[in-house]
Amino acid sequence: MEFPFGVSREFRCLKRSDLMKAMADNLPTGTVRTNCRVHSIEIDPVTHYPQLRLSNGSILQAKVVIGCDGVNSSIANMFGLHRTKLLLFSTCVARGFTNYPNGHQYASEFAVICKAQVQLGRIPISDKLVYWFVTRLRTPQEEAVDMIRNCKLSYLHLTELKYRPPWDLVFNNLRNGTVTIAGDAMHATGPFIAQGGSASIEDAIVIARCLAQKVHNAKKVETGINNGVAKEVFDEYVKERRKRLFWLSLHSFLVGKKLDTKSSIVRFIINAIMSVLFKDPDWHTHYHCQNL
Ligand SMILES: Cc1cc2nc3c(=O)[nH]c(=O)nc-3n(C[C@H](O)[C@H](O)[C@H](O)COP(=O)(O)OP(=O)(O)OC[C@H]3O[C@@H](n4cnc5c(N)ncnc54)[C@H](O)[C@@H]3O)c2cc1C
Repeated sequence: MEFPFGVSREFRCLKRSDLMKAMADNLPTGTVRTNCRVHSIEIDPVTHYPQLRLSNGSILQAKVVIGCDGVNSSIANMFGLHRTKLLLFSTCVARGFTNYPNGHQYASEFAVICKAQVQLGRIPISDKLVYWFVTRLRTPQEEAVDMIRNCKLSYLHLTELKYRPPWDLVFNNLRNGTVTIAGDAMHATGPFIAQGGSASIEDAIVIARCLAQKVHNAKKVETGINNGVAKEVFDEYVKERRKRLFWLSLHSFLVGKKLDTKSSIVRFIINAIMSVLFKDPDWHTHYHCQNL
């Protein structure tokens, strides 16, 4: 079964390294520090500001922290979210970019081919470069197909899939003092509806907008952060994002569980739930997080 997406709607595929470079190039020099992973975070009992312990042994005093440290976030630990490990799907993903020096023959669309518990997805980035992924249950044997075999080793990733269950987003307070989280640190959903990165960009837009509006209204750029405006901003951000992220996370969780399960009864139940809750499988593309 093959489903093309994005024929009439807009789809964009980009390389992570290009995105990171574009963002870093727009920051003032010296803003980005490398080789200093956040080891832990705690609230200073005297100043009530967050304190980050870095892997190089230094301590960073911060006024405000937005933890965007991904699926294994150490910042997320302070919110009582799943502490040790996120839950694991039994599905894993191989993905990569394959270069066709003489051009490929694929249409400019995102195609997903499903057979039993295996899913192959591909989307061209340019006339010569194709991004692809294969999700399947973890097995000791590896099967190879041409596209995978021709993928350069440096472009190849094998990823164990973890997720934060949707109910974590409902039952946890996602602000602690002047600390909050965004992106996969908050809502690791697995790649099943391919929305994690897009939702992370929405987080960034919403948090920036909430901050800009508050600071603009209060005209308290410096003192505002000190006296609780940051907390109000983060509360607003969490409130605005919670519902959207819950539904995204639930949809992705159900699609993932459907791929994951060997039981036809579980698959039947999931299909029934999805046919009620997610009649339009592309519902998430109609969402507009509004402008900055
Ligand atoms: C196989 C697969 C396919 C996907 N496909 C899609 C798709 O098609 N569309 C889509 O929108 N999304 C997709 N996603 C999801 C998307 O990749 C993530 O949702 C997105 O990368 C989350 O961004 P993030 O910035 O929150 O986290 P990340 O991209 O994980 O970035 C976290 C950053 O924090 C750094 N970091 C980690 N720990 C620490 C620490 N302790 N201290 C300091 N820094 C730290 C990391 O080095 C990294 O730079 C896919 C995910 C997977 C696994």
